[in-house]
Amino acid sequence: MPNANNPISQQRYLKLPSGMYSAATAASPASPKLLVLNEGLLADYGLATPWFRSEQGVATLSGSTQGEVPTLAMAYAGHQFANWVPLLGDGRAHMLGQLQTAKGDWLDVQLKGSGQTPYSRGGDGKATLSSALREYLISEAMAGLGIKTTRSLAVLGTGESIMREQAQPGGIVARTAQSHLRVGSFQYAANSLPQDELQVLADFVIEQHFPELLETGSSPYAGLIQAVGARQASLVANWMLVGFIHGVMNTDNASIVGETIDFGPCAFMDEFHPNKVFSSIDRQGRYAWSQQASTAYWNTTRFAESLLPLLAEDKDQAVAIAEQQLKPFEAAFQNVFVNGLQQKLGLAEARPDQQEPLEQFVQDTIGTLTQHSIDFTLFFDRLTAVTMGDNDTGLVELFSDDVAGQTWIKSWRTLHDQSTETATKMRQANPAIIARNHRVEEALEAAAERDDWAPFERLSKALANPYEVKDGDHGLQTPPEPEQRVTQTFCGT
Ligand code: AMP
Ligand code: MG
Repeated sequence: MPNANNPISQQRYLKLPSGMYSAATAASPASPKLLVLNEGLLADYGLATPWFRSEQGVATLSGSTQGEVPTLAMAYAGHQFANWVPLLGDGRAHMLGQLQTAKGDWLDVQLKGSGQTPYSRGGDGKATLSSALREYLISEAMAGLGIKTTRSLAVLGTGESIMREQAQPGGIVARTAQSHLRVGSFQYAANSLPQDELQVLADFVIEQHFPELLETGSSPYAGLIQAVGARQASLVANWMLVGFIHGVMNTDNASIVGETIDFGPCAFMDEFHPNKVFSSIDRQGRYAWSQQASTAYWNTTRFAESLLPLLAEDKDQAVAIAEQQLKPFEAAFQNVFVNGLQQKLGLAEARPDQQEPLEQFVQDTIGTLTQHSIDFTLFFDRLTAVTMGDNDTGLVELFSDDVAGQTWIKSWRTLHDQSTETATKMRQANPAIIARNHRVEEALEAAAERDDWAPFERLSKALANPYEVKDGDHGLQTPPEPEQRVTQTFCGT
């Protein structure tokens, strides 16, 4: 039945070579129920909520009604923990199409957990309700922190029980994104499609997301490497500045536009350690906190390799161009990361002759946080409070001995800029509340297993504005007690 109110009115991926996708119909869940609707996001988009709550809206978001435009599953390849897989693709996701915001932007709407597709490779195509809610909480936490991310529009219960280690309620998350194309999409095109089709993909991405590259007068394909690298570099630097560990930085989970995508075993760390890992499958620490910059560079290099045929006919010349375009990555990362740390610490703008002690201090601070296993978020939050006039007792308490704390604060004071402007910038760089694992687990368990939505609602509200703590939310700031600690996270849970 045609439905004029459905805002998902375009399917731009049909412009891509047909090998890039497959027509796919989502499964019809037994008894779909809209559990969470992101009204704040709809307000940002300038879209009215009633349709999303209507019977038609719920049927569309649960996959049981075909919309106005064809539903697709996208093909992509990927390096998973460095192992090459020539065809992955959306095995449990359906691209419904794009909606247009009041500002005129077109955004993908994709369902995850909506059933099998031609790329399911024997998987059931389903997601647990708990994993759908987890993606909702953490992607919205990212957005609250001002970090580029796919967004969660809604979570639906399917009314089905799905088999994991034990039977669990099934769920679907409807997410929006500037793009669902990944580094793995380019790897797939380079490996499996003719060169002219790879070029169609590159032209599509440039036209949709990097139109400025068409104005430069030089090869937009070469420029695309540097531009994608800059987005990856900035993204991981911003993750690291809030203690976020993505957990599965495979090339199929690296968005071409630099949004955080695919919230599997990701986590924010409590006490700091550069080698911190949460994912149960990351046994070598490949995607540890400190490894994320080099991984993003590695992924960008795989992206550059996939573009080689478009750079020059001569292979050596193409490689030389790609290498040239990869060079700025390191500086792009350092720029966001080091400036970000300086802002978190409220350090004075260094004169050229002071640059070295300042950088040394930042390095030493990372060493101190590690040595004393200091809670990353509390440390910067309390430091901000000190800047704003609090005494330093709360900050010193975080060190394993008072003398070390006093010593660190003393050297910090010699470099700290006391202006109000710096204090404001510190507040903006230092969230008071992050999505701590134990709080996330508590909220998911209550909602998915006991239908108690209070902890989920409280946490998602607090994470939408993480720089301010509302009365009654101070408990969300505290690190876990030993018995509350969550040390491992899992894919697809
Ligand atoms: P991810 O770890 O979520 O990035 O997924 C890696 C690949 O496995 C992607 O191709 C997914 O579509 C696929 N996949 C994950 N879970 C399932 C599932 N339950 N059924 C089918 N495919 C899946
Ligand atoms: Mg993925």
